[in-house]
Amino acid sequence: MTKLRAGSATDVGRVRATNQDQMLVTAELFAVADGMGGHAAGEVASLTAVEALKATFQRKGGTEGLVEAAHQANRSIWERGQGDPELHGMGTTLVAVALVNEDNEDRLAIINVGDSRVYLLRQGELEQLTTDHSLVQELVDDGQLSEIEATVHPQRHVLTRALGVDSVVNVDVLQLLPLKGDRLMLCSDGLPRELSDLQMASVMRRLADPNDAARELVSAAMNRGGNDNITVVVVDVVDDDDLSLTASMALESDPGIQIPSPIPVVETEVGESAAGRGSKGGGRFHRAARPALPVAPTRRAITLRVVGFLVLLVALVAGAGVAVAWYARGSYFVGLNSDELTIYKGRPGGLLWFEPTVVQKTAVRTSDVLPSRLTDLRAGKEEPSLSQARDYVARLRAEKAQLAEAATGTTTTTTTTTPPGVTTLPAP
Ligand code: MN
Repeated sequence: MTKLRAGSATDVGRVRATNQDQMLVTAELFAVADGMGGHAAGEVASLTAVEALKATFQRKGGTEGLVEAAHQANRSIWERGQGDPELHGMGTTLVAVALVNEDNEDRLAIINVGDSRVYLLRQGELEQLTTDHSLVQELVDDGQLSEIEATVHPQRHVLTRALGVDSVVNVDVLQLLPLKGDRLMLCSDGLPRELSDLQMASVMRRLADPNDAARELVSAAMNRGGNDNITVVVVDVVDDDDLSLTASMALESDPGIQIPSPIPVVETEVGESAAGRGSKGGGRFHRAARPALPVAPTRRAITLRVVGFLVLLVALVAGAGVAVAWYARGSYFVGLNSDELTIYKGRPGGLLWFEPTVVQKTAVRTSDVLPSRLTDLRAGKEEPSLSQARDYVARLRAEKAQLAEAATGTTTTTTTTTPPGVTTLPAP
């Protein structure tokens, strides 16, 4: 059985008056949430998030239960914010790691919304597992900003996704096969804001006890400024059912094993895997999260690290596949097709092999909406449903029309229904 051991630490920092971070440490569920909102709202949001996450995950379990718990947390915060003017607009980031058992195999399920992070220290190498949902990360992904520039960008704290700010949210999910010696680290942005990856890795390698490591990370961040709340949860894999041992022995005994290409989950739910394993009819994560053992293409010796890397790679691809499938099912956005507002299905910019598809050309032009809306439109304004996307377009148009009306003093009435001239394309 996989055994985990965790340590944690948090500090308000040297600048902020209150600590709006929350953490959760149980036997098999770990989380960090970084709340935002005026007065006490940020604290309420992050606390609501971890409480709802814990309650739902304990009831449901599993990777899907974890994702559902994040959605439940989102709803809980959203509803509280709607019912109380003091709390309106509050939100929080959330990262969580859960030990799950699927298809008779222990795995770590990881979810992320916002810019808190999960790192993995494996074989001495530190890697960030989660991708920030922030403006600067999008610019980096777009090639408009380098990683270095991102760390000093004035808008580096602007989030593109958070829990509780809308009635629905997209949740990133990925899985990892836990290997003995792995060390995961969950943190709020107050940590990477002060420490480089090298500095974090050095502390994480040096201190064996997870509590010592967590405390030292927080205190190092305090010493370098403590400009934000800092929260760290360190989770060590202290036993893995000899999974890592089995992996390395199998490689030694059969160097002819072929490397399977990483296979996205969504495409491998049916049929045979590249490794020729039959499906055991298990969960949707099964195939991609459990790759056949790889071998290097050259005569170089295979190390456990290579195996670990490939397992992680495949798990990441699997996680991305699940996330993509998730969005592809229910996500719409309004973007610009030259100067026409266009409703797309998918994610702004596309994700992996899923390109957004045009659902509706609205015949509304950029000149029909306020210039201040163009930034949102260029980035792609996400809406949970097609009708909400249409409403959004209608609102933008009405807004501009009302302003024009006010300016000219005419009595033309405006409407918030679908604008004339809207054409619906046949489904792609
Ligand atoms: Mn923060």
